Amino acid sequence: MREFVHDAPPMRVVLRPGAATTATPEEAQRLGLRRLLVVSGTRGADTAQAVADALGPACAGVHTGARMHVPAEVADRGVEAARAAGADGCVAVGGGSSIGLGKAIALGTGLPLIAVPTTYSGSEATPVWGLTEHGAKRTGRDPGVLPRSIVYDPELTLSLPVPLSVTSGVNAIAHGVEALYAPDTSPLIALMAEDGVRAMARALPDVAADPGSLDARGRALYGAWLCGSCLGATTMGLHHKLCHVLGGTFGLPHAETHTVVLPHALAFNAPAAPDAVAAVARALDADDAPRALWRLATDLGAPRSLAELGLKDGDLAAVAAQVAGQAYANPREVTADGALAVLRAAYEGGPP
Ligand code: NAD
Repeated sequence: MREFVHDAPPMRVVLRPGAATTATPEEAQRLGLRRLLVVSGTRGADTAQAVADALGPACAGVHTGARMHVPAEVADRGVEAARAAGADGCVAVGGGSSIGLGKAIALGTGLPLIAVPTTYSGSEATPVWGLTEHGAKRTGRDPGVLPRSIVYDPELTLSLPVPLSVTSGVNAIAHGVEALYAPDTSPLIALMAEDGVRAMARALPDVAADPGSLDARGRALYGAWLCGSCLGATTMGLHHKLCHVLGGTFGLPHAETHTVVLPHALAFNAPAAPDAVAAVARALDADDAPRALWRLATDLGAPRSLAELGLKDGDLAAVAAQVAGQAYANPREVTADGALAVLRAAYEGGPP
């Protein structure tokens, strides 16, 4: 018998082609919202405007100020825009950065959030917010920032370039992998994680072969949803901690860093998490899960090494010390030497 606690947050999800403009107004109506501020980054402004047009009189304004890692002043401007528009809710259109801004507005104002994701980051399925101030990223959990509805529209992801689709997809897989050995995992989370990893790992080669395939894009979003939900429901371990330090302190790009580190972090944890490794192997239809993850990303042309991403050899020890010095859940104890070995392998980029 496996003892567990499973806590399911309220979650409403719509996934279908065209949903951004057809389902978002319906979701707003279900939630009783009549004055929505639509937020995005500058690059997603056209899509945000299309969603705003579909909302018609229920749109109170469009704010295209989202930036990577939600700098505090960007969050403040978003909150001001929501107040100035007299908004009663917010729709975030875009990747993790836009959804991050939507969450910051929800945190600052208490307004409900609808998420319309355009990448596979999974942020839309978590109550985790992040803000960057004076070069340091703070994160926290607040049920108020969890989107009330998620609207997945595969058509919005057709423009996501293949390299970014691949790394964003492996970013999602990382959530599923770490949920499988999280201390607060549950039988339902394990099912979702395994199927999320399976769906994403099968979708990515199809997305790479035919980026215009709505079917493959839809399967990738399904995987992103499951893996993102696992991220929201559990406590992440060594892999996410390494990526947080590499991104937050050393400025490495988010999805690419996850892609490079994941096979090596899983290889390190494998001896202490045999059930999780077996589930990932089943999902990837492989004998050796860490190596299969490495092969998946490599075959799809993703970056392989932290060196390629711009990290310096001389920084490895500092990252290892930061990661080993913090307390967090991980199936295997992380010493500075252990963290350094994972980082060294990821820095060199060979098979785990
Ligand atoms: P992102 O939102 O910054 O998007 C990456 C790039 O892709 C941007 O240049 C963006 O303009 C572009 N883009 C997005 N969608 C596109 C599309 N459909 N077509 C073409 N270009 C598109 O990055 P991301 O990887 O989605 O998210 C990363 C951020 O999200 C990080 O800050 C990370 O910390 C955060 N995040 C938070 C959580 C959470 O639970 N709070 C979870 C995952 C990620």
